[in-house]
Amino acid sequence: MTSKPERTVDVAVVGAGPAGCAAGVFCARADLDTVVFTNGRSTLQKCAFVENYLGFPAGIEPRALLELSREHLREASCGLREQTVEQIEQREEGFELATADQAVRADHVIAATWSNSGYLDDLDVETELERECSDIDIVRTDGDGETTVDGLYAAGRMTGTHHQALVNAGDGARVALNLIKRVIPEFYNDWVALDGYYAHYDREVPVGVEEITHEERRQRVADGHERMREFFSDG
Ligand SMILES: Cc1cc2nc3c(=O)[nH]c(=O)nc-3n(C[C@H](O)[C@H](O)[C@H](O)COP(=O)(O)OP(=O)(O)OC[C@H]3O[C@@H](n4cnc5c(N)ncnc54)[C@H](O)[C@@H]3O)c2cc1C
Repeated sequence: MTSKPERTVDVAVVGAGPAGCAAGVFCARADLDTVVFTNGRSTLQKCAFVENYLGFPAGIEPRALLELSREHLREASCGLREQTVEQIEQREEGFELATADQAVRADHVIAATWSNSGYLDDLDVETELERECSDIDIVRTDGDGETTVDGLYAAGRMTGTHHQALVNAGDGARVALNLIKRVIPEFYNDWVALDGYYAHYDREVPVGVEEITHEERRQRVADGHERMREFFSDG
């Protein structure tokens, strides 16, 4: 790797399909400095129309689902880079990811690139060939989503989960939460609750939980509806 690393982040996610976007949103919302790389098309763009993604009972156009997912990354203050990760090397602490014109250091990596795992070749990652519906290498992970390389996680279809967007998004969130648990040892919950919810149960507000007033809740609901109206009326 030639270029000097441009910056160090807590988490680099490779892939901005359903799995990578979900992982990026959860990591960034846990205040981990997170950047997501994508190099073009998610498999979802091969789909004609998505009818089984929870929350869209009338179905949603794949492009709109991806744009909303990437908008969610921006909302969570997660970086998004349209760059191919060409290679990843392990360092004494963490990893160095190389793109065509720069390198980024990351303490942890989540790979979520489905049919492409060539950029992991320099690492000692165990893979196996999936023959069920493709001839593609599946990355082996443990119950937390960690690969055979310490600090390198993998999520989504590339780990052999079902070929369904909702499952892959859920897997990205699950793996991110396992990584967060490793970095934040306290009990962590990414929840928004009403003021006094935890006091009612005589409990401390856990790390990651935000308590808001009724007024703030009404404002967020109104803002959320407005954002969705704008998005779909523009499209
Ligand atoms: C024809 C077709 C129809 C489908 N229809 C449906 C459907 O109706 N409902 C449903 O639930 N599922 C459907 N699917 C499946 C769904 O698209 C996948 O399960 C889902 O997209 C996989 O998500 P993922 O995040 O694991 O990977 P992907 O969505 O494939 O995302 C991979 C990401 O990795 C990035 N990437 C790859 N290599 C690199 C690299 N070296 N550097 C940087 N970025 C990289 C890509 O740019 C992309 O952002 C369909 C699939 C196909 C092919």
